[in-house]
Amino acid sequence: MQNEATLSTSHANGKEALQAQIAGSFQAVEARISAACSSANRPRDSVRLLAVSKTVSADAIATAYALGQDCFGENYLQEALSKMPALAALEIEWHHIGPLQSNKTAAVAEHFAWVHGVDRLKLAERLSAQRPAQLPALNVCVQVNISGEDTKSGCAPEACLDLCHAIARLPRLRLRGLMALPAPAASLAEARAPFAALRRLSEQVQASGLPLDTLSMGMSDDLDAAIAEGSTLVRVGSALFGRRLAR
Ligand SMILES: *Cc1c(COP(=O)(O)O)cnc(C)c1O
Repeated sequence: MQNEATLSTSHANGKEALQAQIAGSFQAVEARISAACSSANRPRDSVRLLAVSKTVSADAIATAYALGQDCFGENYLQEALSKMPALAALEIEWHHIGPLQSNKTAAVAEHFAWVHGVDRLKLAERLSAQRPAQLPALNVCVQVNISGEDTKSGCAPEACLDLCHAIARLPRLRLRGLMALPAPAASLAEARAPFAALRRLSEQVQASGLPLDTLSMGMSDDLDAAIAEGSTLVRVGSALFGRRLAR
């Protein structure tokens, strides 16, 4: 009995500690977003916080949800699918972020509301064809390799306009905007340059007749620079949930 009581107390403490920790980091990130918005003369509600929950337990996600966070970003399909059933009762908006392989598009089209890593037409065509008829159109951001250093994901800036127009014609997708994941920068000024480039590209796409409302840019280390350059959605993981172990 003694042991059981001790155990359950320490378990409760563990849970409370997790809640307090998550609440504290959400407050800190919220303060950074608010400060960045006010120095850019932007209303706070012009920036959405996407909580990146890769490697984060379903329990921690539920804890963040109880604090009012309702959109979460996941990179790895199998991991996301394994956490979703336990969270099915919550009204979570799931975003797929990061690289997407074409053999995973069907499950992504079925289980997510947004996809941020669309960088080629073939992916978009598959997502559109595979989006279940009873669900609303899938929200899509085109990922752009804006600073050219990561060769693996993102379309070339020169290819972005044509890709956006082709995606806008697909029936089951709703093109929302552009996304970028620039390499870590050494200074705030250096961090701002690729974000500014993505904003200008987005302005060109809009000037060509496509209405975009999303600039998905900024993470734990550079969300302030991204908001200064017009980000409407920051994707934040480690600043909310702690440093991830290497996967
Ligand atoms: C992991 C990840 C993030 C969050 O990164 P943090 O530095 O932990 O905030 C944002 N966007 C993408 C595409 C990611 O893969």
